[in-house]
Amino acid sequence: MNQFLHNKTVIISGASRGIGRAIAKELAAAGANISFNYLTSDQDSDDLANELKAMGAKAKAFKVDVRDFKAVKSWVDETKELYGGIDVVVNNAGIIKDKALALMDTDDWHSVINTNLNGTFNLTRAAIISLIKQKSGVIINVSSISGMIGISRQSNYSASKAGIIGFTRSLAREVGPYNVRVNAVAPGFIETEMLKDLTDEYREQMIKQIPLSRLGKAGEVAKLVAFLSGKDAGYITGQTFVIDGGMSSA
Ligand code: NAP
Repeated sequence: MNQFLHNKTVIISGASRGIGRAIAKELAAAGANISFNYLTSDQDSDDLANELKAMGAKAKAFKVDVRDFKAVKSWVDETKELYGGIDVVVNNAGIIKDKALALMDTDDWHSVINTNLNGTFNLTRAAIISLIKQKSGVIINVSSISGMIGISRQSNYSASKAGIIGFTRSLAREVGPYNVRVNAVAPGFIETEMLKDLTDEYREQMIKQIPLSRLGKAGEVAKLVAFLSGKDAGYITGQTFVIDGGMSSA
């Protein structure tokens, strides 16, 4: 593979599994060193760090809650010390707590906003001054089509993901003059543990709404993130890229 991220440092949230894990592997294959965090999956995270090292990357897993700004700031500072700087930030950690609004309690609302939206603020805020000072950097935020089209029982998740799109646009204008690019990706239904609680019936219904007639793969999202991380995307900022098998095209 073309090592277009040779010796670059990528910091990525929520890479123990799913889309984040696929992104970590894709960017390591492109030559990057990887610093990632997770919340609970110790074994999966150790395994990933070892896998990335076997690919020739420097890699370290940090057990850090993205909801905790102080802890995130320490993770960012340690990453800078270990690897000498940060070049690419991927805000990927996210959760769902789907419920009809009439049944949603305040914890269902706050936990999703705190993880998805405030977590994105925390990591970006902790890293942004380094990127501005070095006058280069890339930020990629993982949103969702749920932030763009209505999906019933996801008002908390949808609000968090729409918030990420607004955050992306605003920050792109702010830091563009410092040669820092900020983009978002908006996946549709991607086959990961996040979808494990979907009933077969709901899954079938969803697939009927997808022109490509299948769920997406984490690796497919990772390829898009890799493109946005590299110089080939050097004139792209402030945008949100949908990757959903055509689901939102109607
Ligand atoms: P996943 O398999 O459930 O993985 C979620 C990851 O986030 C895990 O690594 C998890 O760590 C981490 N995480 C959760 N809360 C955290 C916290 N407070 N602090 C640190 N890490 C935390 O989910 P996924 O499907 O890969 O989703 C990744 C991103 O893509 C999310 O932002 C999601 O909203 C977005 N997305 C997913 C889909 C989809 O269909 N799968 C569609 C659109 C967008 P632990 O393993 O330690 O818990």
